[in-house]
Amino acid sequence: MGRYPKVVLTADRTLMSPYRGISLASFFGCAPALDFKRDHNTALYRVLGNQVTPRVLFDFICNPIEHTNGHANYAPYGLRKVESALLRDGYAREDVAVAHPDHIEKFIGPETEVVGTYEMDPLGMGPVTMTFTYGRKHMSYDEFYNRDLHQRINAAKARNGSKAKVIAGASGTWQYNYDPAKIEEYGLYGIVEGELGGIGPEIDGAAGQFFDAVSSGEFDTANPFKKSQFKVEIKEFVRNGRALHGRFIHYWNEPSVDEIPTIVSPSMHGMVEVMRGCGRGCKFCDVTLRPLRYYPVEKVQKEIEVNMKYGGLKNAWIQSDDIFVYGLNPRTTKNMQPNREAIEELFKGIMATGIEHTNPTHGTLAGAIADERLIPNVSKIIGSGPDNHIGIQCGLETGSIRLIGKYADRKLAPYRPDEWHWVVKNGIKVLNENYWVPAFTLIMGLDNDETLEDSWETIRLIHEIEMEQPDSKFTTTPLTFVPIGLLEKSDFYDIGNTMDPTKLGVMYKTWQHNFKYGIQKFMGRVGQNGMIKNWFFTALATTLGGVPLSAMEKFARRKGPDHERVIEKIKASYW
Ligand code: SF4
Repeated sequence: MGRYPKVVLTADRTLMSPYRGISLASFFGCAPALDFKRDHNTALYRVLGNQVTPRVLFDFICNPIEHTNGHANYAPYGLRKVESALLRDGYAREDVAVAHPDHIEKFIGPETEVVGTYEMDPLGMGPVTMTFTYGRKHMSYDEFYNRDLHQRINAAKARNGSKAKVIAGASGTWQYNYDPAKIEEYGLYGIVEGELGGIGPEIDGAAGQFFDAVSSGEFDTANPFKKSQFKVEIKEFVRNGRALHGRFIHYWNEPSVDEIPTIVSPSMHGMVEVMRGCGRGCKFCDVTLRPLRYYPVEKVQKEIEVNMKYGGLKNAWIQSDDIFVYGLNPRTTKNMQPNREAIEELFKGIMATGIEHTNPTHGTLAGAIADERLIPNVSKIIGSGPDNHIGIQCGLETGSIRLIGKYADRKLAPYRPDEWHWVVKNGIKVLNENYWVPAFTLIMGLDNDETLEDSWETIRLIHEIEMEQPDSKFTTTPLTFVPIGLLEKSDFYDIGNTMDPTKLGVMYKTWQHNFKYGIQKFMGRVGQNGMIKNWFFTALATTLGGVPLSAMEKFARRKGPDHERVIEKIKASYW
């Protein structure tokens, strides 16, 4: 290679995989990879060593993204935004590379000034991962491959004589505050944070200035008196009697829609954004701290066209924190009533590009049913049907009326907290009738305030839905509470050490639901994947799906009679 690029952007394998086109499989990075404490004298150790989820299986499902001479053909949407922002801000094309993680050494050389890594769950502390790894008792694949990426970057720097500064960005960087030893281990020059730490800053508004400042050494020292849109904070952490330091760079501006660049190269999974922020104000969520902005339809179309033209994509995955607030003003709209016309126009514009399939990433149940014509009309526009199910992630959060009222009352608007169970049941019914399948997430140990009765309410709600709507289609994923958003001063819910019997019950019930109603009944029919591929993954999931249930039963036996009684009660009354 001749001259090396000034800026190299990259992400680890778990974020740079098409997951063989199975959209639900992208959660697989949260799976446990290694158990360092496994007894060396066991048969399991002799077969698998430290591996929990066999690496060969993981690597098969998480297949590497295609590349062209080491340039990633598709990249996480956030990385594409930074790439296009740098080009907009005057960087030459040859000075910015989005590198495939397996080919990073081709791009890092003497001229490289900055390596920017995009990190969503770098230390495996995201809610799904914490659940699957019993609170980091195992190392997850997210962490495993992020570590692998940093090792490769450092090896490339050493080999090619590069002094490039490595900067970690994106929504998972808050995790370094909780394991600062990794900052040193990975040789990170800086970590980008938002004003309140937990927010992934919208650096695409000022990418040129930011990378210029990194290169020029402006961030080498903290100067609280210097006027700048970036603030450097050298944090000190004391761990095991040793002082550790990290350079955290804060950026808190929110670019207006006009200042947000349009991607110029294809994004992973055909993702495009239609909005930033969410006005619903759930206390446990950091998205809500951002001001709400919407893309006009033409801007969305331009990004889809880039994905179609340069990536051959036929799918548009619509990044939306709550698609049903698109086009409304949360300050002036009474009861968060959806702006149906705006949402319909948006989806008409999306389909007018010629793509074959689209689905929003997230939406609220209350928003979905607040206008009875909304879901039927949008479904007609996007062509949902028996062969084209629309997956959408919705926060069920909890079955507890008390908790939902206390932490997320506006998530229910225009309904009241005491109507929450009705909203959930009716939401599923309306979505399913129109061939939408909600993937629910629940929060275990919400603000460490979840009582035994709160957990039972969740278990009962899921069971009631199964009894009242036996053909309903939805999945449920329990996530452990992580202190972000307005609750960032709270403590993590420590699943590894404080799993009380009913929280185990919530996990057990949700997995039993997914196994019985999700995997066995409809997994293969969601999305638009090949028949054989769907059949294969459904068969794989059906084969492995019972394993977590047996593991939880074994765990309950180890924990004692209180845990066992909960499992027995669920089997007897809520199965
Ligand atoms: S509705 Fe979703 S995105 Fe909006 S604040 Fe609540 S949890 Fe966050």
